[in-house]
Amino acid sequence: MSNNAAALLSAVRRDAVVRHEGGVGVVMSERLLAEPGLRHGFTTRLGGVSEAPFDSLNLGTNRPEPYENILENYRRLCVNYGLRLERLAIVRHEHGVNILKLGPEDAGRGVTREPFDFCDGLVTDSPLVTLVTAHADCSAFFVYDGRTRSIGLAHAGWKGMFGRIGQKLVERLSLEYGADPKDMVCAIGPCICENCFEVDLPLAESFAREFDCPDIYSVREGRPGKAYVALRAAAVIQLMDAGVPFDSISVMDHCTFEEPELFFSYRRDGKGTGAMAGFMTLD
Ligand SMILES: [Zn+2]
Repeated sequence: MSNNAAALLSAVRRDAVVRHEGGVGVVMSERLLAEPGLRHGFTTRLGGVSEAPFDSLNLGTNRPEPYENILENYRRLCVNYGLRLERLAIVRHEHGVNILKLGPEDAGRGVTREPFDFCDGLVTDSPLVTLVTAHADCSAFFVYDGRTRSIGLAHAGWKGMFGRIGQKLVERLSLEYGADPKDMVCAIGPCICENCFEVDLPLAESFAREFDCPDIYSVREGRPGKAYVALRAAAVIQLMDAGVPFDSISVMDHCTFEEPELFFSYRRDGKGTGAMAGFMTLD
């Protein structure tokens, strides 16, 4: 039987909470928050020092603004959420599906030290390195395995979604650490939603085929040749295809495009906009 996006999205756990520690806004999954010895979150644009159009918590390290602002924003995130700046390691994303395994020696890469080669996903079992991703409409996969104490975090725009980077993240945790998908807990970060993400119809049809899900897109009167794709459905389906139980998946139910007060959005604001960060660490 084919997948049904509407049924999946109406039944999936939606458990986002927004914290404002020290004025720094971070979205979290209640399910992941309940896991001991784990810190995670997806930042909002609130609580930083960057000026327009990067106002104010820009955590994109490749934006044309003073790097001292970006570092100060990271510092504020760290101080308020129990992280250590020198342990952060951030992807250098290329909208691919390359995943790197990190150890303590990678702490600081891309933030206080030289960046990685291109990658969109990170895994580790070390509490001495904090995984970080950058986003401006693209979603994030947060994956935690409590039995092996291993974690994975990935940046997923439509290309990564289509390339199944979430599924690959789960598979990598199994390969590297012996984690069983049945034990894993997963959260899908805020992203541009199925009402806002417009693409050309042939791409939408490709999503329907790839995820065996005819209703993964919808069309609208007055927008010939265009369609709206449910990236979150693609995210849920690929995690299930990887063996993660449906009940262990949750969605941080925010649309980056529709909530300008909370999020930067590339689709809405174009190139001159900041980036949010996903983070995950064992402690
Ligand atoms: Zn939306």
